[in-house]
Amino acid sequence: MSTTTVTTTPVRVLRAAVRYGYAPAMLLGVNGAGIALASAGAGKIWLLALLAAAIAASFTAERILPYDQAWNRPLDDGGRDAAHTIVNEALILGSVAAIPALAAVVSIADIWPHAWPMWTQVLLAVLVADAGITLVHLASHKMGPLWRFHAVHHSVKRFYGLNGLMKHPAHQTAEMTAGVAPLLVIGLPVDVASALALAVAVQLLLQHSNADYRVGPARHLLALNEGHRFHHLKRAGIGDVNFGLFTLVWDHLLGTYSHDPARRFTSDDLGMAAKPHYPSRYLAQLGEPFRRSGACAPGPAADGAAAMAEPI
Ligand SMILES: [Zn+2]
Repeated sequence: MSTTTVTTTPVRVLRAAVRYGYAPAMLLGVNGAGIALASAGAGKIWLLALLAAAIAASFTAERILPYDQAWNRPLDDGGRDAAHTIVNEALILGSVAAIPALAAVVSIADIWPHAWPMWTQVLLAVLVADAGITLVHLASHKMGPLWRFHAVHHSVKRFYGLNGLMKHPAHQTAEMTAGVAPLLVIGLPVDVASALALAVAVQLLLQHSNADYRVGPARHLLALNEGHRFHHLKRAGIGDVNFGLFTLVWDHLLGTYSHDPARRFTSDDLGMAAKPHYPSRYLAQLGEPFRRSGACAPGPAADGAAAMAEPI
């Protein structure tokens, strides 16, 4: 009896640390380190190292305190998701590197608050980007051409951190353009953009995490995994909720917020009811939006989000 207590206590402490400490460690710790590195002018390699550490922390937390043990087991999707991650992160890094050139073209007036403390500048960038990315996300569930590209993200059959970076590069570019363009127009500095890029990646890891962490009442404001699981429900209408990336402010304003504390999720609840046989390989997923089968099948709305989203 006592032996059992001795062996389980450290595990319980570790699980409690993940349950209540994982989200603050990622949101404040990793992003705080990113802000410090970016403001010190550190090279991109340091931010990449920080992202690698965040991904490692994501996998570790999911194994210590999984919401669903089955979601930690690959479904022959490890290589594909790694490819999505590498390509999409490379695109984001390339975009950050191109900001000086882009700013020279699109900047209308440099009214950026350069004198503010760095963390408040990053917070401003996060809130502006949240609006653009969230609204394009919502539009992607309502407009057929956008849904074709966004469907890649909704084809997941298990819910874990790397899913956040599993997107069609064209759709990620559309979302990021809507989020960052307003910032570029008013003079977004490169160091703030670097911290924002890391914050987006950290948020995507948290939002899709299989770690059963808790943030208390903040779950109604922050767009984290408790709320985002509802977004991945495969049935139309039910899954068209909680579109926010960083916050759920826009969902509250637009009436698309949903939460039921008693709801539990399994793989059977995820994916797209209208497209149960969506391609699972990386290159096939990149090509699917351009194929006839990439359109959403006409059918009763109850057959899935795709059927509802696609104009018929
Ligand atoms: Zn979506």
